[in-house]
Amino acid sequence: MSNIFDPVNVKQELIAELPAKVARKRSKQIVVNDDKPRENSPEIMANVRTIPGIITMRGCAYAGCKGVVLGPTRDILQIVHGPIGCCFYAWLTRRNQTRPYTLDSPNYMPYAMSTDMQEENIIFGGEKKLKKAIEEAIELFHPKAIGIFATCPVGLIGDDIHSVAREMEAKYPDINIFGFSCEGYKGVSQSAGHHIANNKVFTDVVGVLDKEKEGKFLVNILGEYNIGGDAFEIERIFAKCGETLHATFSGNSSYEEFASSHIVDLNVVMCHRSINYLAEMMNKKYGIPWFKINFIGAEATSKSMRKIAQYFEDPALIEKTEAVIAEEMVEVEKVRKDVESRCKGKTAVMFVGGSRAHHYQELFREIGMKTVAAGYEFAHRDDYEGRKVIPDIKVDADSRNIEELKVVADPEAYRPRKTPEELKALTDAGLQFGAYEGMMPDMEPDALVIDDLNHHDMEVLIEQLKPDIFCAGVKEKYIVQKYGIPLKQLHSYDYSGPYAGYKGAINFYREIDRMVNTNVWKLIKAPWHESPQLTATYGCD
Ligand code: SF4
Repeated sequence: MSNIFDPVNVKQELIAELPAKVARKRSKQIVVNDDKPRENSPEIMANVRTIPGIITMRGCAYAGCKGVVLGPTRDILQIVHGPIGCCFYAWLTRRNQTRPYTLDSPNYMPYAMSTDMQEENIIFGGEKKLKKAIEEAIELFHPKAIGIFATCPVGLIGDDIHSVAREMEAKYPDINIFGFSCEGYKGVSQSAGHHIANNKVFTDVVGVLDKEKEGKFLVNILGEYNIGGDAFEIERIFAKCGETLHATFSGNSSYEEFASSHIVDLNVVMCHRSINYLAEMMNKKYGIPWFKINFIGAEATSKSMRKIAQYFEDPALIEKTEAVIAEEMVEVEKVRKDVESRCKGKTAVMFVGGSRAHHYQELFREIGMKTVAAGYEFAHRDDYEGRKVIPDIKVDADSRNIEELKVVADPEAYRPRKTPEELKALTDAGLQFGAYEGMMPDMEPDALVIDDLNHHDMEVLIEQLKPDIFCAGVKEKYIVQKYGIPLKQLHSYDYSGPYAGYKGAINFYREIDRMVNTNVWKLIKAPWHESPQLTATYGCD
């Protein structure tokens, strides 16, 4: 399927209106995928500061730490230390779901807890207020663990959340209390917050509890946040195949599952950007290998389940996995073919996250739709071009803000799950450990890849590409829809889901069918398309 537009021209249009210096920088963040041979994706500039004045899609480091990685955790009581405005990200904006074991099991997710700092605390310090908030929370909820999240003002005035955490832990030794120095300014996007979250969860949570889980083939999924119930569907497939999901970081899991997650046989990574650090560190410290999987897309789900079965080298598991795939694919194929008959040839653009813009291309491909442009909000070059480029990524001052933990094998807990010979045999058979090939090799050569999309880019893409659907977040949703183009939110799923696994694929096919084939979008005209709301002239006499 070839494009009706020339991607090189579109790139020119995207930068045409920008001042020369800004255009030079942005042109490095916009690439046509076929600039180089496929196996050697073109280089893209990513994970750099957004130019001031540009309306970016990004969020802050605190949003990445608190909102993304820790947010879906139901029984780590989370206190946002800062002004109440930051607490917006503490209130389930991503529609993460959870299912406590019993009605009495702790679940703090419906709460948003903040120290609500006022001017007086900014001037005289907020540590006393934080201690009081912790004591109040302990008295009310009796949690096993408490996470404290620093926001920008806290970092600027120098409150030491870690000394408060130590002091309170000494006072309440049965409670694991830890702080995240995830002030919003700590990085260029949410990505810095993901790394900070990984580091703290690794040092203060993983490995503090030796608790076996019953069942065979123990696996952790890293980077699955149970938006719209995705993790529930993945759990269903694992259980049906006979595998045991120990902890999902961090959707629908408990503190104790995280704390004992070092006992598993295998880690699989769903969202590469937000959690690859934890996978690497757990491999070094505990000897748990990891590989990349993807449960977005029916084919991708089957491929991922086959990889996991292959890793365990158990003939009964391999046979069972194939039987489950065959059974699940009957209904998937029926719906897919029906939807494909109406969606084939339509186009999508996708700008979201640090892995989702890659994963969701699978689902569109399955119903015959082509992703003509895609990019990430907070990815690094390896998410685009693959982990092979990591040694070439220049570490700038912003990245140096985030501590790189020095991890060594634990003298007691390190237990290689496979011998080097076994790992080599599996690698020779096609399993790639610790690897990710990135989004670009999976995209068409004439696709546009754009990092850190902004609202100007969005309007140019709509005019030039005329996509049948735009996938992004709530900040883009209503502007795009005023152009008469449906927007699917891939952060929160627009009150829908799940989209993972087989049942999720069916949900997604049907929803995209409804969105791209309804006539309602043709009737939408923004008021300013009919007559300008405001007119002005530039210049002065
Ligand atoms: S003040 Fe800082 S931490 Fe709070 S939302 Fe804004 S950027 Fe994020």
